[in-house]
Amino acid sequence: MSLRELYQEMLLDHSRHPRNFGVLPYANHLQHGHNPLCGDKITVFCLEENGVIKDVHFEGVGCAISVASASLMTEAIKGKTIPDFDTLFNAFHTLVTEGKEIGDVGKLAVLAGVSEFPVRVKCATLCWHTAKAALMNNPNTVHTE
Ligand code: ZN
Repeated sequence: MSLRELYQEMLLDHSRHPRNFGVLPYANHLQHGHNPLCGDKITVFCLEENGVIKDVHFEGVGCAISVASASLMTEAIKGKTIPDFDTLFNAFHTLVTEGKEIGDVGKLAVLAGVSEFPVRVKCATLCWHTAKAALMNNPNTVHTE
């Protein structure tokens, strides 16, 4: 199995069996996101204590890329501080827009192929923009346009 095939398998697995899916009742940050280009809709729930993301969940409907990306994001940012979240946000954005790995992106690397499909970049980044808005208590629903 090539690395590319392995990444495809991991993406499929996360889209079919998303991790941390469902309402987080004790969340203290919440935001909705909408990508009208594709129809992806997501809600991100975060429990943040003293600047640390203690728990994070999401729910919503969307394409395989948007669901897999949100699933991978929840695994990647749980336990991270807000500055570490920002660093990973920037690294992920570079990964899916330019296909380049800056810093340690861990399992998020499986989404590098998205950079070859510019129309899918918004599917992959919707959850990240929504999580950022939630953590910053931005009161406005995130729109990717
Ligand atoms: Zn999508």
